[in-house]
Amino acid sequence: RIVYVNGEYVSEEEAKISVFDRGFLMADAVYEVTSVLDGKLIDFDGHAARLARSLAELDMASPVSHEELLAIHREMVARNGIEDGLIYLQVTRGNPGDRDFVFPDPEKVRPGIVLFTQSKPGLADNPAAQVGMKVISIPDIRWGRRDIKTVQLLYPSMGKMMAKKAGCDDAWFVEEDGVVTEGTSNNAYIVKGSKIITRHLSEDILHGITRAAVLRIAKEAQMAVEERAFTVEEAKCADEAFVTSASAFVMPVVEIDGAMLGQGKPGPVAKRMREIYLEESRKAAI
Ligand code: PMP
Repeated sequence: RIVYVNGEYVSEEEAKISVFDRGFLMADAVYEVTSVLDGKLIDFDGHAARLARSLAELDMASPVSHEELLAIHREMVARNGIEDGLIYLQVTRGNPGDRDFVFPDPEKVRPGIVLFTQSKPGLADNPAAQVGMKVISIPDIRWGRRDIKTVQLLYPSMGKMMAKKAGCDDAWFVEEDGVVTEGTSNNAYIVKGSKIITRHLSEDILHGITRAAVLRIAKEAQMAVEERAFTVEEAKCADEAFVTSASAFVMPVVEIDGAMLGQGKPGPVAKRMREIYLEESRKAAI
């Protein structure tokens, strides 16, 4: 694989990051994952805009312009021959040459940028979408700025492990009052009748790029949408559930904490939303 590190395209064996990089020592870094279908980028502008927002919230400068970022993404797709897959991008505060909690002077330390690709042939035809996912609920003990897409992914990783141990596919984070925030790496939705319900935006959840697209599609298709919090108990009694993310698109959920939804099969709203989302995304890909 060819990876991109601070201005250079190098083989993954040659790529080097300092041990003093703040992304490595402090998780002082933000990231984005963009899907590639048929060699084209899905929702690049949305990911670039969220990256800019994450950087601004952390007082980090962007190491590249919007145009450069697009050019680098395209170059990575071309150099790695990606038809279907993912592009991972990370921006770190950089390497101050020592370990210190205080942010380095931005005049002296430039942010670092890394990209790599993951080839996923048939990404949009994931057979899991036909079966649906089983999720468990776990306490949301993450920090309070989940709207910033930082690389602090230890607890989400632990959540996926808890799900795996329970024989399930993923976990939904739940606050003390039983209210669902989001999935470990996706936004969470329930469907009641024909109404799609998903948590409103705030600092409590990541502002999913796929979420924005799905809600736009739902409104265009005159499907009812309610942006509000819902509890696990309400979710267990819902007609359907699903999650969205840039890498899984729209993925049906058929079981929550052992309670089967609908007939234990992906519901019609989730299936239809997945189809329309993929169709529209392919059309708008660049
Ligand atoms: N919430 C969390 C916690 C996530 O990690 C992700 C995916 N990175 C999402 C939601 C979905 O966001 P997007 O649709 O932009 O991939």
